[in-house]
Amino acid sequence: MAITLDTSLLELPGVGRSRGESLARLGLTTVGELLRRYPRSYEDRRQTSTIASAPEGVPVCLHLMVAEQPVFSHIKQGLDLVKVRLVDDADELTAVFFNQRYLRSALREGEQYLCFGKVEGPPWRRQMTNPVCERADRVKFNGRILPVYALTKGISNNLLAGLVQRCLEECADQVEETLPHGLRQAYGLATAEFACRNIHFPADETALETARRRLIFEELFLLSCGMALLRRRREGEAGLAFALPPPEEFTGLLPFSLTGAQRRVMGELDADLSSGLPMNRLIQGDVGSGKTMLAAYAAWVTARNGCQCALMAPTELLAGQHFQSLAPLLEQAGLRVGLLTGSVKGTARRELYAALAEGRLDLVIGTHALLSQGVEFARLGLVITDEQHRFGVAQRSALAAKARTPPHVLVMSATPIPRTLSLVIYGDLDVSVVDELPPGRSPVATYVVGEDKRERMYSFVRRLVGEGRQAYLVCPAVEEGDLPEEEGETQTLKAAVPYAHTLQTEVFPDLRVGLVHGKLKSRDKQAVMTAFARGELDVLVSTTVIEVGVDVPNAALMVVENAERFGLSQLHQLRGRVGRGKHQSYCVLVTASRSPDSRERLRVLARTNDGFQIAEEDLRLRGPGDFFGARQHGLPQLAIADLAGDTRVLKQAQGAAEALLAEDPGLQSPEHAGLLEQVRRLFAAHGDIFN
Ligand code: ADP
Ligand code: MG
Repeated sequence: MAITLDTSLLELPGVGRSRGESLARLGLTTVGELLRRYPRSYEDRRQTSTIASAPEGVPVCLHLMVAEQPVFSHIKQGLDLVKVRLVDDADELTAVFFNQRYLRSALREGEQYLCFGKVEGPPWRRQMTNPVCERADRVKFNGRILPVYALTKGISNNLLAGLVQRCLEECADQVEETLPHGLRQAYGLATAEFACRNIHFPADETALETARRRLIFEELFLLSCGMALLRRRREGEAGLAFALPPPEEFTGLLPFSLTGAQRRVMGELDADLSSGLPMNRLIQGDVGSGKTMLAAYAAWVTARNGCQCALMAPTELLAGQHFQSLAPLLEQAGLRVGLLTGSVKGTARRELYAALAEGRLDLVIGTHALLSQGVEFARLGLVITDEQHRFGVAQRSALAAKARTPPHVLVMSATPIPRTLSLVIYGDLDVSVVDELPPGRSPVATYVVGEDKRERMYSFVRRLVGEGRQAYLVCPAVEEGDLPEEEGETQTLKAAVPYAHTLQTEVFPDLRVGLVHGKLKSRDKQAVMTAFARGELDVLVSTTVIEVGVDVPNAALMVVENAERFGLSQLHQLRGRVGRGKHQSYCVLVTASRSPDSRERLRVLARTNDGFQIAEEDLRLRGPGDFFGARQHGLPQLAIADLAGDTRVLKQAQGAAEALLAEDPGLQSPEHAGLLEQVRRLFAAHGDIFN
């Protein structure tokens, strides 16, 4: 039978219905799929030895002859033993096999075998237990580098490796070459056939490395092509071309002058807004870098062009805060600004809806409530979402869908992502980076402390409050018992509600302690935050609800309890709540964890204030899955490449993809048909996004 890449695995010898089902459970139904399922690791069976020179405890291959017919014995229920004497040119050993009864007749006196296993025991009584024996004239797996695959019940590694070996013999030469020849040459990449053979059964380490490099490149290249195709498809749409008013009219409204980075991004916004194509831009910038002003600028340009702007924030708290800072600013410029959250109800809500629909509002700031059915715009021209990582792509487009002409879209994120990665994650967005903080900010001094320093931490809170400052104390839980304890860690988690009570009654009876958490009613949350912002509270106990965007310049201390519970990027966000005013600010990370790893991890924050560096470290420690919730971001599953680890190759692949698409924008030329097919396959789980 001729095997092709499309042949069903059921047609292969040795694969019956039940194995076929097990393989299908691994996602393997055809030969092509099998060959694209790469090994998890490898077992090196190349070292050969004689009986006399076999190293202690290391499995090796030995050329041995069966000296006499094996002896079979039945030890007890469920335990059989086959024992055989094997010799090489100089010595002999005894091999024993448990529960491999068939070897009694399979091993023949006088035959040569290549056996793989550990040689044990004293020189006068050498022994091997369960070695893998292959007849010398029919060696399959011994003496080479053997692939180790992810398995499932009913499928052994030997079976899978055997199937792969068989398929490679029959059709490795059918594996299609998707990478253009010139590209392979430019980057020194192996052919598809070489890569396929050597990723499964590598000739040696170099061949394996060469194969891996090619496959990683290929995968990242396909990913980059897919993203570039998405972006190009979007570029075909017509959008609103805004006229740009003199920028001094905007900057004149501000109590400060913009930073160089803000000016640069303003220029990028100008180019987008006036281009006649819909803007799709991500502004990334560390906490406190002043992204809100850029959003305000874009909203202002939009209003000056007779269009409306919607700004969506992930929490009511944040929406409220944006409203409080932006409304007074933009109202000076004649903009009419409204706030729409879940708490706006009844007549007020109906009035807001009407104002939007009739074009009597220029800017509406809100939460998910903006997505409500009743929300209609007279002329929506710009959609801004703040803190993008809380919103899915779908929500961004749901809001954009409320416009007649595709509106400009601006996304702001304070989660710094390494630049190359943001290209992949936000592949269809152009990226601007605000990489400069407003002047006069001193870095937040950060300390990692254990429980033994708790009293000192309390004194420190008291001292700063004495100096007129305010402090945040953040806990991982709201009520006791909210979070399951981790194995082996018996420490109790600080919960905001009881902690606030203890602080107020026992630790700081003379200070004003407030409490805010996600289970409070929105109005109550808002009231507490407002009180804190007005300086009517000294200490605010909270959960991570204060993580995003909250801005109280007089707060100079951030204490995080059970800090080991948080991701580094999240801690960095929390820390960004202080150091926003002119006062020297502090961040104290309290941890009872004794694990040196988790302390070391936290010290990254003490060492640097650079969000990008922290993000890279977080990414390295937790992997991209946790970091981004990769699936949530609609990224395809990768078979071999690692977005965090292979960034250098990713950069090359991105460059190559851009270059190729510049030449053949839709990958329409016949020679790129195979490539386009592969790109579609990679993105297949996400529906046919290229149509
Ligand atoms: P983020 O990027 O975290 O959203 P914000 O836009 O909230 O940061 O800005 C943080 C604080 O810095 C705000 O109080 C804002 O008014 C102030 N700010 C923004 N730009 C500047 C600037 N160029 N000079 C001084 N202060 C600025
Ligand atoms: Mg912000």
